[in-house]
Amino acid sequence: MEYEIIDFHTHPYYDENDCICIHPTSIKRSPSEFLSDIKRAGVSKFCGSVITLNKKDENQSWWDIIKKLNDDALELKKLYGNAFIPGCTIHPDFVAESKREIDRFKANGINLIGELVWYIQGYNSYCSENMKEILDYASEQDMILSVHLTNNDDMDLLCESHPNLKIVCAHPCEGELFERHILRAKKNKNYYLDLSGGGIYRYGMTRRLIDEIGIDKILFGSDYPICNLQMYVDGVRNDHLLSNEEKRLILAENAKRILKI
Ligand SMILES: [Zn+2]
Repeated sequence: MEYEIIDFHTHPYYDENDCICIHPTSIKRSPSEFLSDIKRAGVSKFCGSVITLNKKDENQSWWDIIKKLNDDALELKKLYGNAFIPGCTIHPDFVAESKREIDRFKANGINLIGELVWYIQGYNSYCSENMKEILDYASEQDMILSVHLTNNDDMDLLCESHPNLKIVCAHPCEGELFERHILRAKKNKNYYLDLSGGGIYRYGMTRRLIDEIGIDKILFGSDYPICNLQMYVDGVRNDHLLSNEEKRLILAENAKRILKI
């Protein structure tokens, strides 16, 4: 059976030095080769923020870096066209600037923030006063927030502080993290999960997630190119514990509904 596939969680790059693959000598890396890989895996649309693992030098401000990542994301939108939905990056130390970036992305027809990856951008909570102000604005603007988990209590507070903001958390993982995702999704109608990163390689994980939190709250994501995109596609498409209809919803329909595309 053929499925439409939307990858909700990728990290494209305009500058090859920002490719986050941890084995970069093994892959081809130009932005056009990135697209070839995406298409080879059967993915027709992909979302995500440009991030960098390069260390900030002392003379740089965080905002210089973040503005460049957002500029690159919008340049990539020109290159990839409708295949790509860029995610806007924001930062709690820059409230007015972050709101302006939300406006800039909205003016380009984009309603996605993130994935935000706090641990490489110098902060550790989505619930500081400054971040709350930015995310209140994002909520008013009907943006969708994609995040890398901070810690369980911070994520609980994030959901409760912004009940009208759709929050998609990456990486189901396992153990305590997984159980808390489930509790949080049951408690908060605005909380969703994407399947990227840890978790999907555990047999029965996706089945249990559907049974516990409902099929509508699960989105396909890979975290390509740090993770192996084809493995994630096949991990859903060939999972015999899922029905064809469940695969269709996870692989594309849920993302289309949330992103309004
Ligand atoms: Zn990611």
